[in-house]
Amino acid sequence: MKKKLIIAIDGYSSCGKSTFAKTIAKELNYLYIDSGAMYRTVTLYCMRHGLVDNDKLDLQSIVNELKDINIEFVYNPDIAEYETFLNSENVEKEIRGIEVSRHVSRISQISEVRTRMMELQRQIGMFKGIVMDGRDIGTVVFPDAELKIFMTASVEIRAKRRYDELKNKGVEIDFEEIRRNIVARDITDENRDISPLRRADDALVLDNTRMTVAEQMTWVMNIIEKKINGS
Ligand code: C5P
Repeated sequence: MKKKLIIAIDGYSSCGKSTFAKTIAKELNYLYIDSGAMYRTVTLYCMRHGLVDNDKLDLQSIVNELKDINIEFVYNPDIAEYETFLNSENVEKEIRGIEVSRHVSRISQISEVRTRMMELQRQIGMFKGIVMDGRDIGTVVFPDAELKIFMTASVEIRAKRRYDELKNKGVEIDFEEIRRNIVARDITDENRDISPLRRADDALVLDNTRMTVAEQMTWVMNIIEKKINGS
């Protein structure tokens, strides 16, 4: 039997982590987990229950209600992808919207939220054969992951990619607003006290500003093959 790996992909907002992670998972027949979707789902729950808005964060209620937030990834055969469910409701589209993006970095700073998400992520990763992307996967969630990649790209190209992605989904959005949101999330994610975004010492850096997905795949599959074959 082939050796199964845990592959941790961290990096800045909108630099193509999920496309890259998903493609690797398909290629290897591994499970792909989008840890950002989990923080987004908690955020959506908080928004719907009036626990967060522009000038308020009801910390105590958020902590108390964490146990009521059930997050699942359910496979949709029509699109051959997993979709995110909040308490049995498909919220995949809603969690990607700008409203959730606006609040998510504040919710993800809460230590109890991070601890709960980390427990879930570790449970999912127990059996290996997994690609997980996020901000702290290689540093905190799976510090022993066999392969860690830290992704980055210029702010302009990241904003352009997110803009195109939302446009394709029919979401009307202003380019400048996306750019500002990306910069703001970078700053909050890098400067928070708990599990800030940073490169793990043993992570390989991938700057994909000028790389296609195909080029990134050639690069990574070469590395993965060596890891699997133990050379
Ligand atoms: O990856 P994505 O941009 O969807 O993540 C949304 C937000 O969730 C990030 O800006 C970050 O605040 C938070 N996050 C996190 N730790 C992770 C994944 C995401 O704090 N492992």
